[in-house]
Amino acid sequence: MKKISHWVNNKVVVGTSGRTGKVFNPATGEQQAEVDLASVAEVDAVVAAAKAASREWRSTNLSRRAEIMFRMRELVDANRKEIASLLTLEHGKVTSDALGEVARGLENIEFACGAPHLMKGGYSEQASGGVDVYSIRQPLGVVAGITPFNFPAMVPMWMFANALVTGNTFILKPSEKDPSASLFLADLLRQAGLPDGVFNVLQGDKTAVDRLLEHPDIAAVSFVGSTPIAKYVYETGTRNGKRVQALGGAKNHMLVLPDADLDMAADAAVSAAYGSAGERCMAVSVVLAVESVADALVAKIAARVPNIKVGPGSDAGSEMGPLISREHRDKVATYVDAAVKDGAKVVVDGRAAMKREGFFLDPTLIDRVAPGMSCYDDEIFGPVLSVTRVSGYEEGLKLINDNEWGNGTAIFTRDGGVARQFQFDVNVGMVGINVPIPVPVAYYSFGGWKASLFGDQHMYGPEGINFYTRGKVVTSRWPDPRTSSVDLGFPQNR
Ligand code: NAD
Repeated sequence: MKKISHWVNNKVVVGTSGRTGKVFNPATGEQQAEVDLASVAEVDAVVAAAKAASREWRSTNLSRRAEIMFRMRELVDANRKEIASLLTLEHGKVTSDALGEVARGLENIEFACGAPHLMKGGYSEQASGGVDVYSIRQPLGVVAGITPFNFPAMVPMWMFANALVTGNTFILKPSEKDPSASLFLADLLRQAGLPDGVFNVLQGDKTAVDRLLEHPDIAAVSFVGSTPIAKYVYETGTRNGKRVQALGGAKNHMLVLPDADLDMAADAAVSAAYGSAGERCMAVSVVLAVESVADALVAKIAARVPNIKVGPGSDAGSEMGPLISREHRDKVATYVDAAVKDGAKVVVDGRAAMKREGFFLDPTLIDRVAPGMSCYDDEIFGPVLSVTRVSGYEEGLKLINDNEWGNGTAIFTRDGGVARQFQFDVNVGMVGINVPIPVPVAYYSFGGWKASLFGDQHMYGPEGINFYTRGKVVTSRWPDPRTSSVDLGFPQNR
C-alpha cells in the first residue's frame, strides 16, 4: 500500500503517531494509499523546523525570494500534467478540470513574482522639520494553511505563493482525502531553491488543526473548507491571538432574466453546476428562473444534461468524474430523496449511477425547489442543480440576499442597467455578469461574504499580500545640530 507522509526540512518524514487515514481512488472505490495523521508532538516538531528557518528566510533579499518563485513558476508549468494526474487519481476530477486547477493555481505564483513591487511602502520626506516618515511591510513569521479536498493544488498555491515570497515560513495541512499533490508541490519548491524548513507539509486531521490553532509560534492561519469548520477555525485561532482568514461553504445562485440568451444561460448553468461533479465552492447550485422563461430554460438545461459524459477522470472522453467518497456521494443522494418528498420535481435523476463501481452520481436536475426544502437550504456540494422559479428581478435578488452564504452569484441578462444595479444591490463577494463562475484572476482577491468568509481579508491578490504582512511606520530624524533642542511638548509638525 502506498504511504503518504509529512514533508519537513525539504524531505519526506515518515509519521510516528501510529495513526493513518485511508486515501481512495474515487473512480473505483478502492483504497489506494494510506496517509500519516500527525500527533501533537509531530505538529510541534514541524513548527519548530519552520521557526528555525524563519529568521534567515526573512533576511533573504526580496529579489532572491522572487527569483525562487520565478523558478517555481517554470517548474509548475513544466509539470502541469503530472500534478493534474495526481489530482485525478485521488480527487477524481477529469483531466481537463485538473489542468484548469493547476493553471488557476499557477496564476498565484506568477502574481507572487511581483512581490518586490507589492511590498513597497510609502515615504514622506520632511513630514516635520528634519523628520521623515516611511512605512514598511514585514512578514508575520510562521504561518499555516489548512486546505479542503476539492482543490488539492490550487488552494495551497493561493496561500503559499504570497506567504513565502513576503518572507514567512509556511506549514501546509492539506486535506487527508487527497494529500499527494501537496508533497509534489513541496518537492518542486525544493527544486526551485527554497531553503530547508521554509515550506513544510503536515498530514493530519483535527488533532493537527487544533494544535496549529493553539501553538504559540503560529502567527496566522489561512483556512478554506466548510462553513462550520471555518467558523471554528476563525473563533479558535483568533481567541489564541492569531490572524485568521477562514473561507467557508457556499450556495451560489444564478439569476436568469427573461431577456437573457437562454441557450447561453443553459450552457453556463450546466457547466457551472456539474463541472467537477459540483464539488466547487463557486459551483452554481440554484438557478433562479423568472417564471415567464422558466419552462423554456428548464427544457434547455434538461436537454443538455444527458450529453454529459460521466466516467473515470483519467478517461480522455470523461467530462465529469466521481465524488470524493462513498459517504459524501450517499449524502448528496439523500438531498434528491428529500426533494421528492418535499414535492419538488426531479427532471433528471442521477441516482441510478450509484449501482456502478466508484463514487459516482450522475448529473441531477430538480425543478420547483423552494426555500425550506433541504435541497435549497443546505450546501449539497455535488452534481445536483435546483431550479427555483421567481416572479422577477426583485424576488430573485431577495432570495440571494436572504441566503446565509454569499460566496458567488451570477446574473444572466442583456440589460446592462439591470446588471449594474445587481452588482450594486447584491450581498455576495464575487459577482458574474453573464459569467457563471466568477473566480477572480490572481491580481484581484478571492472571498465571499456572510457565512462564506470569517475574517477581514480575502484570499490571494493584494489582500493576500496584506494578510501575510504587517505594517510598520518609521519616523526618523538624523542628527542635525541646527534643529536639536529640549522640548517636553507633545510631538507635532513644525
Ligand atoms: P472540511 O471543512 O471538511 O475540511 C477542510 C479542512 O479542515 C481539511 O484540511 C480537514 O482536515 C480539516 N477539518 C475537517 N474537520 C475538522 C474539524 N472538525 N476540526 C478541525 N479541522 C477539521 O471541507 P472539505 O470537505 O475538505 O471541503 C469542502 C468544503 O470546502 C465545502 O463546504 C466547500 O464549499 C468549501 N470550499 C470553500 C472554498 C472557498 O473559497 N470559500 C473553496 C473550496 C472549498
